[in-house]
Amino acid sequence: MTNSSESFDYIVVGGGSAGCALVNRLSSNPTNKVLLLEAGSKGHFLSRVPVSFSLLIDNPAANWCYRSEPEAGTNDRQIPIPRGKLLGGSSAINGLVYVRGQQLDYDTWAQLGNRGWSYADVLPFFKKMESFEKGESEYRGRSGPLLVTEVVDQNPIYEQLFKAGRALGIVRNDDYNGADQEGFARAQTTISDGRRMSADFAYLRPIRRRRNLTIKTRALVTKLLFNQKVCVGVEAMIGKSIVTFEARKEVILSGGAINSPQILELSGVGQPQILEKNNIPLVQAINGVGESLRDHIAPRLVFRITKPGIAYNDAARGMNLLKEILKYGINRSGFLNLPSAPVLGFFKTRTELAGPDIQVHFIPYRVVLENGKRKLGEEPGMTCTVNQNQPESVGSVHIKSPDPQQHPAIRYNFLSSRLDIDTLVAGVRLVRDIMNTDEMQMYCGEEMSPGSDCSSDEDIVAFIRNKAETVYHPVGSCKMGKDAKSVVDEKLRVHQIKNLRIADASIMPTLTSGNTNGPCMMIGEKCADFIMNH
Ligand SMILES: Cc1cc2nc3c(=O)[nH]c(=O)nc-3n(C[C@H](O)[C@H](O)[C@H](O)COP(=O)(O)OP(=O)(O)OC[C@H]3O[C@@H](n4cnc5c(N)ncnc54)[C@H](O)[C@@H]3O)c2cc1C
Repeated sequence: MTNSSESFDYIVVGGGSAGCALVNRLSSNPTNKVLLLEAGSKGHFLSRVPVSFSLLIDNPAANWCYRSEPEAGTNDRQIPIPRGKLLGGSSAINGLVYVRGQQLDYDTWAQLGNRGWSYADVLPFFKKMESFEKGESEYRGRSGPLLVTEVVDQNPIYEQLFKAGRALGIVRNDDYNGADQEGFARAQTTISDGRRMSADFAYLRPIRRRRNLTIKTRALVTKLLFNQKVCVGVEAMIGKSIVTFEARKEVILSGGAINSPQILELSGVGQPQILEKNNIPLVQAINGVGESLRDHIAPRLVFRITKPGIAYNDAARGMNLLKEILKYGINRSGFLNLPSAPVLGFFKTRTELAGPDIQVHFIPYRVVLENGKRKLGEEPGMTCTVNQNQPESVGSVHIKSPDPQQHPAIRYNFLSSRLDIDTLVAGVRLVRDIMNTDEMQMYCGEEMSPGSDCSSDEDIVAFIRNKAETVYHPVGSCKMGKDAKSVVDEKLRVHQIKNLRIADASIMPTLTSGNTNGPCMMIGEKCADFIMNH
């Protein structure tokens, strides 16, 4: 059944990191009538507790629960790809670590021809969006909607890591989102007073009663509507009904790096042979749709912690769990208030590099990650997750069916570049060097995974191929640029189409050096600025 159209100035598809930021700014002008369509629910009761990232990571009530196709580079394993499906999107289920990336990341985007995206161009938007608890500076903002705090947990192993760094000549960095990223640091988080600050809570909840804003949840956008090459609205499935919505000015896709290219292809925008195979009439050939997909693949090393009372592995079991729940209930502290990693390292594996080429997440408990499920191991340990900041391997995401409810085919082609393999091997060796310092040996024992018999480069590569999963940062599948694989221009307008933009992780020309939530919110902010001020 198709219901007739309501009409809006702007329709935003997807209420995730970028979508919420965009909707907030667009609707700040009361003359803009704005509609947000979100496929997922209004929220999940667990989402606000920081530790929920472990619980929602494979929960279909809040998650699209994608998987890659079998990957040759990872021995035909299908890599799990969690993506948030609720208001706040992936920021409502993520690990709450806040990283902007390196200045060089954005200068590279500009260097590729994207005017308006250099570090100097994006910095005002990063400052505008945040309220950093340590105060305003040349690099940081203090009056934005997104509260950013330093991790509050005070486990002594964190200081020990910094001492180990010092012994190896690695600096401690008080603000890796400031002048320079390199070094060891306490993580900055999107946690405020023990509660998750998702894009929903930062950007949407405070303004959701604006009279010019309509938010519809459980509304799956099934396709875009075109009049010739002009986007004029969207079609959505709400319950059992198909409903159309008219956009008088623009539609903005913010469905994320998996869903935005899927929606374009379902609507007839993409590679002609893929559309033809799925019986979808061609609206506009754009060969880059769904290409250029990148993510951070990340091997996880685990070391035994021998010093009692340090690892949190016991915290989530039996009476201890009750204690932790009480602690959290009383003053929002303890295990439940941890982000996915309380200490971060941004390191160079080669001295000649302009910036760190790897990131390490240090986690004071043993994580057992198997097939996308995340559990606490029984024995006390420390997990060190290593990823390469700028992987060269690129993959794709394309529809397998014209049915909008079918998951697309996601192919990463992980480890298809020699540089990616060499960098990860060097990263694994660097983590071992840190953990083998006297400072860390006072707290830690043997390497539990992969173990000391995994010693040659070939062994380490085999370990990565057999075990590594991602740190959940898919980007690039509708990348911004001017080359044959690009989909949007520097103002985020889809090539050759009028009144259609994309604002989400999919537009990134390359990955940012770190976790991607903050950069996605910045993209939402920039998109609003393009629409409202240019
Ligand atoms: C488990 C996990 C852990 C992570 N940890 C961190 C971390 O610690 N720090 C960090 O910075 N980043 C982290 N990330 C990554 C980060 O959260 C994402 O990169 C970012 O949130 C993506 O933002 P986005 O706007 O591109 O898309 P999303 O936030 O994913 O939003 C897309 C929205 O669009 C909706 N949507 C999709 N298709 C449709 C449709 N057809 N119709 C209507 N609505 C639709 C989705 O339901 C979703 O709400 C993590 C991600 C995950 C999944």
